Amino acid sequence: MILLDGKHLATTIQAELREKTEKLVSSGQRAPHLAAILVGNDGASQTYVNAKVNACKTIGFGSTLVRLEDTVTEAELLHQIELLNTNPEIDGFIVQLPLPKHIDADRVLQAIDPAKDVDGFHPTNFGKMAQGLDAFIPATPYGILTLLQRYSIPTKGKHCVVVGRSNIVGKPMSILMGRAAEPGNCTVTLTHSATQNLEEVCQSADILIVALGKPEFVKANMVKAGAVVIDVGITRLEDASAAKGYRIVGDVDFNDVAPQCSYITPVPGGVGAMTVTALIMNTWKARTGLSL
Ligand code: NDP
Repeated sequence: MILLDGKHLATTIQAELREKTEKLVSSGQRAPHLAAILVGNDGASQTYVNAKVNACKTIGFGSTLVRLEDTVTEAELLHQIELLNTNPEIDGFIVQLPLPKHIDADRVLQAIDPAKDVDGFHPTNFGKMAQGLDAFIPATPYGILTLLQRYSIPTKGKHCVVVGRSNIVGKPMSILMGRAAEPGNCTVTLTHSATQNLEEVCQSADILIVALGKPEFVKANMVKAGAVVIDVGITRLEDASAAKGYRIVGDVDFNDVAPQCSYITPVPGGVGAMTVTALIMNTWKARTGLSL
């Protein structure tokens, strides 16, 4: 079994990007600049946004954090988006989800200029991605594709089963794995809460990508021997014996499943570690027009 070390790969890619950014700046051009809008004081959202801002600093990108109260009106949020859309110094920006209930998240995401939509959530980017056209790919699926690519894991002709069909992970992942591309070219099954015989379906996967948000849901009896297992899940479980009072677990029961896999991502240190780096890769693309 080989561990897909997202943390290590993220560090490697960030070093590559730092070198490219230094070259860009020394040639007299402006460094890429990412902005993030954070509404409210949700602890997890603040952690995610801080990780994005810190990654920018590490690499030499500019970053701007726009903080808004959770009482902000939708009109004011849309105004802030327009300011970023029209600011020539900002190459890409994100609106950290979730948003307060009084705000229509779909309307907000659709207000982002697709050319600056480095989260890849705008329908224009989603549609282009589905058609195999050049687009910003949502960060988590992009991070997973990068892991598969950098570990040279063959995907062509394989059966890929994706568990979960959210717009930010499962659905785009299923589209990407089915595209005529490398990584890709899989026969894909997209599963969800109404799927029958989920255990059998998962057992038939050469590549199993799990994103349902249920801690340690996937057990060894759902996994074929030699399968590649990608665990997207992140859940904080209270644990008095842990230093922080909690531990982070994935959607896969790692200890049960890992011995029979060819490759598996750990949690933490797998997909989550790659997600921020994928966002940074999209910001590089927004600035330069180039993929890494
Ligand atoms: P959502 O809650 O948006 O979607 C969950 C999906 O899982 C839904 O499609 C749901 O089906 C499906 N599902 C729920 N229960 C079952 C079941 N028993 N059997 C089969 N399918 C089921 O989740 P997200 O995609 O946003 O997140 C999933 C997990 O990934 C979470 O733990 C989240 O924290 C994590 N995450 C990690 C990221 C990273 O960077 N590593 C980034 C984003 C998320 P239905 O559509 O029928 O309701």
